[in-house]
Amino acid sequence: MFEDLRWFGIEWQEGPDLGGPVTPYQQSRRREFYLNAWRELVRRGFVYACTCSRKDLAQSAQAPHDGDDEPIYPGTCRARVLQQIPESPAGLNWRFRVPDGERISFHDLRIGETSYEAGHDFGDFVVWRRDDVPAYQLAVVVDDEAMRISEVVRGEDLLRSTARQILLQRALGYRQPTYYHCPLIRDESGERLAKRHDALSLRELRARGVDTVKLRGISPNTPRLNALYTEISTQLSALHRIPLTVDPALAKLGRGTPRPEKPDQ
Ligand SMILES: [Zn+2]
Repeated sequence: MFEDLRWFGIEWQEGPDLGGPVTPYQQSRRREFYLNAWRELVRRGFVYACTCSRKDLAQSAQAPHDGDDEPIYPGTCRARVLQQIPESPAGLNWRFRVPDGERISFHDLRIGETSYEAGHDFGDFVVWRRDDVPAYQLAVVVDDEAMRISEVVRGEDLLRSTARQILLQRALGYRQPTYYHCPLIRDESGERLAKRHDALSLRELRARGVDTVKLRGISPNTPRLNALYTEISTQLSALHRIPLTVDPALAKLGRGTPRPEKPDQ
């Protein structure tokens, strides 16, 4: 991936390959950070152990309000009180108890004021999985805090997750970054790129010898990308007015099989 990003013209000042002030950068080596956060959440009573099986959840959980989100947890294990904090979270799903009925609001730099109702738009979400891995929501919140991330730019499919992450930030006493959620990029038939099977990955395009200058949409007279940040900051405000589809010529080049929908999400 580093090679692909470098090929594309992106440079960075710190990271897993270069090191930096907040090592380690690989999530697989940050387990202690996540465990500390889990312990803190348990100690403060924000999370509880959930023993529901996938089958239980399939039978009782409410369908999500949109197809991309997880079902709302029915609260079966919510009232469970721990006698003592276990040494390890392994073997159980640990869920964050959301404040039912409270609206979680934040200012998105593209969309403006955005809010979701806890317990209605999303339910008690998993912060640590029974296979002993921190869930995405916990890992990013812990990393953002440790790495002093001030701006988060990502796809709008994560808007609702931002509300969940704000609850975690509050519970742990962390700072809240500012958020900019981009429209999702689609191909010419409206298919989300992320759902396509590796069709337009940088690696694929690189293997096919695509010209990076053309790919970046930058004039050949611009000798190099002045760091992606400049590009992002100047383009972001205009982004939502442009329909974000991939150049059809490029899309044809990278055509692949759409990914099958995952059965259990
Ligand atoms: Zn449960």
